Amino acid sequence: MRLRFWGTRGSLPVALTWRDLRERLALALVQGHGRGLDTVEKAAAFVEHELDPGLAQTFGGHSPCVEFIPPGSTPHPEYFVCDMGSGARAFGEHVLACQAGAPATVNILMSHTHWDHIMGFPFFVPSFIPGNVIRIYGCHAELEAAFRRQHGAPSFPVEFGQLGAKIEFAVLEPGRPYDVAGLRVTAKRQRHGGDSYGYRFEHGGRTVVYSTDSEHKLDDPADTQGFVEFFRHADLVIFDAQYSLAEAVSVKEDWGHSSNIVGVELCQMARARHLCLYHHEPTLDDAQILQVLRETRRLEEITRGEHRLEVSAAHDGMEIRL
Ligand SMILES: [Zn+2]
Ligand SMILES: [Zn+2]
Repeated sequence: MRLRFWGTRGSLPVALTWRDLRERLALALVQGHGRGLDTVEKAAAFVEHELDPGLAQTFGGHSPCVEFIPPGSTPHPEYFVCDMGSGARAFGEHVLACQAGAPATVNILMSHTHWDHIMGFPFFVPSFIPGNVIRIYGCHAELEAAFRRQHGAPSFPVEFGQLGAKIEFAVLEPGRPYDVAGLRVTAKRQRHGGDSYGYRFEHGGRTVVYSTDSEHKLDDPADTQGFVEFFRHADLVIFDAQYSLAEAVSVKEDWGHSSNIVGVELCQMARARHLCLYHHEPTLDDAQILQVLRETRRLEEITRGEHRLEVSAAHDGMEIRL
């Protein structure tokens, strides 16, 4: 199974400003000074291997959208994606390019319908094209209403009913495993304003958990145990790490998000293999997110028992192979 991240910021998309870019270029030129970087190839190798990572990468970009690619699905018979944040626009272009005119079937699993998770759908071009099938799964009774409401006047120039693709909605029951086009999918209710749902995906002996927009109260043993079971032995847990622990238990308590520290604890208890920090806080810059990643890796190291947990931070365009 492969995962491809099309949008990784929480709450609101974020872009580098021209001022950020110029500052970065100036710092990179200074770091490359005297290295004989007189060809594009040499400069590219320097950026890849030597340039400060805080300058060489950005956490960018779009609000939540993650694609699941089961093995053997090239060319794609069906697509799987979690959430329709602004990353859905780029994902839609990818679908059209892969299909080269052939109709597509896209399975969309929705954590919830807050705006950062649905805002990309009006720009998801496959939904405009007759012959395509879009199946939208979620656990909220108002799933369809939320999608319809952001299409059409006064928010968007195209009414939902004018979309050319066949669009179907399916409301799932949490705790019950479903077969979604060959993927085994189980949802779990999470603590968040208006509720959100995490998904556990199982396919070909691999397990991925997508758990965003979820606040955890570690002083509630039953709640903690429920998530430990949900994450149990997962190969990958994509986890809402929007806040620092200090924020999550003080000023931002009950704002519905979690922290990197809680992610490490839950994944260690569940003996998960890989924790991927996700739904990054929009006010943090790249250097601050990298710092969170470094601190999380250090925490994992000093609290490690017999079991090693790999830790990464999602960025737009990142792929993980399992
Ligand atoms: Zn969100
Ligand atoms: Zn939310």
